[in-house]
Amino acid sequence: MAISDDDVQKIKEATDIVSVVSQYVTLKKVGMRWAGLCPFHTEKTGSFSVNAEEGFFYCFGCQKSGDVIQFIREIEQLDFVESVEWLAEKAGIIIEYTNVNDASVHKEKKLVSELLTRAAQFFNDRLLSSPDAGKARAYLRNRGFTRETVEAFQIGYAPMQTGALRAFLGTDATKMEAAGLGYSGGGSFFRDRLMFPISEPNGQVIGFGGRMLPEGQPPKYKNSPQSKVYDKSKVLYGLNFAKREIVASGQIIVCEGYTDVIGCAKAGIPRAVATCGTALTEQHMKLMTRFAKKIVLAFDADGAGQAAADRFYAWEKSYEVEVFVAQLPSGSDPGQMAEENPEALVEAIESARPFLEHRIARVLQSVDLTTAEGRARAADMAAQIISEHPNDLVRDQYVVEFADKLKVSIEILRKLVLKYFQDGRKRGDAKKDVETRNYEEGFSQELGPISSAERNLLCAVIHAPEAVKDLTIKEMFNSELASMAFDLLCKEDWKKHLDAENEQLVALVQRLSVEGIDADPIELLSRVLDPIIDRWQMELVYDVTDIDRLRINQPLVKWLSERQEEMHLEETRLASVQAITSWLKSVS
Ligand SMILES: [Zn+2]
Repeated sequence: MAISDDDVQKIKEATDIVSVVSQYVTLKKVGMRWAGLCPFHTEKTGSFSVNAEEGFFYCFGCQKSGDVIQFIREIEQLDFVESVEWLAEKAGIIIEYTNVNDASVHKEKKLVSELLTRAAQFFNDRLLSSPDAGKARAYLRNRGFTRETVEAFQIGYAPMQTGALRAFLGTDATKMEAAGLGYSGGGSFFRDRLMFPISEPNGQVIGFGGRMLPEGQPPKYKNSPQSKVYDKSKVLYGLNFAKREIVASGQIIVCEGYTDVIGCAKAGIPRAVATCGTALTEQHMKLMTRFAKKIVLAFDADGAGQAAADRFYAWEKSYEVEVFVAQLPSGSDPGQMAEENPEALVEAIESARPFLEHRIARVLQSVDLTTAEGRARAADMAAQIISEHPNDLVRDQYVVEFADKLKVSIEILRKLVLKYFQDGRKRGDAKKDVETRNYEEGFSQELGPISSAERNLLCAVIHAPEAVKDLTIKEMFNSELASMAFDLLCKEDWKKHLDAENEQLVALVQRLSVEGIDADPIELLSRVLDPIIDRWQMELVYDVTDIDRLRINQPLVKWLSERQEEMHLEETRLASVQAITSWLKSVS
């Protein structure tokens, strides 16, 4: 959308900056200027002043300054065009868009928005006073929703009776469909549902989330369809309500549902938003960074696995944000916690951990850290996770921290992390695309992460079985899913067994079947053996406190490092891989 400079000028001239600012700040006349407490930083004595004649504001405390458009941008967290539109609306000026297309799009959007705003009012009135909404009111009461909450969040009820909304709006089926409120045949899109209006950050209603009532018609959640104004990959529920608090605290809590957002507000942390039936997208992230730089994920972020991690790290880098994960008890969501134990919810948000730390902590929970073998295994898994972070310094911080916790040498852990890191970088972009796509489609229940080395080996087993199958054993795979896949691939005519296998396993195998291998199969096998050898050395040398034991282990350690070295040279690779594999078979 582009607005002509003339219009911008006209709007500025028609706007009195003092009366606009006065809606947010109490101003007093001091000599030639107006003064008050700055709305952009906390202060006790006023260092904020407005010059009515020149039409600008300035703060001596935080140095924020600008014209009336800038003021609205900052205080309403709008972009330039939105701010100008906001002011034009107040001044009663009709904007001439420089582009004819913009003008007609704007007009259509405006019509849709008006319908949606009136629909929100209709649903809200219906919930508060209509006899057919008794069930909805009882449900809300049971879940601890007060009338204030219902009003604050404009919660509503869409009646079962079809046509009631259309009659109220006095419009036709085509317009209803364009607004995402009805079907072309005249039916209502939302029926017998609790309605949560979804708005732009400026409060403009753009769609609805409809929740099923007990014993209602599934699905449990139904959101507005894609329309001229509603795009689920961009919209965040609750941002319009929470933006002031988000800006003031510098923190934004991301949930999955409307009731989670409302739950957070009820628990005294009114700075939550929710994605509307989709995974977090880059557009969501971009939008959030306009308001805060600390992002706290308050949903189960573990399932999304490595593909999600890659995205979060990339976003942290490009948007200069920090992603944290709230420490919610497993299986619970913020909405439910707000009902049962609001203090625990606040605590879970306050104790949020950086994303990487959270992932490692989850892995460590599943390992017995009292034994040397357990710690070695934990170090290996931690190394894989640490290796995913793109920043050298961050990786090293975690190496130092976790080497200490897991009682392994910093050098060994650093080496392991570096190896996994280099391994990860060798992965093709094509594979990354597939992972990203799966993530977006909600591929969210991985049976633990599969390292790229393990994936490549599985690929080699599929595409070059004669070279690697006999040399590969199940114990080489760390990931449960990878080892299940290997089991499957060992079956005679494995393609015929696919139907009987679990969905995720089938998806993985099918995906690997269409991917090629980009290196010599024996080399791919050696990449899996590399960290296994490191792990064995760690167990044999570093986790042994008994000197006699060390002496006994010494020849094996030496033998392993010699084979490992040979494995890195092309001419000796096959022989050393064969030697290591037969040794592994003997100890497994
Ligand atoms: Zn200030």
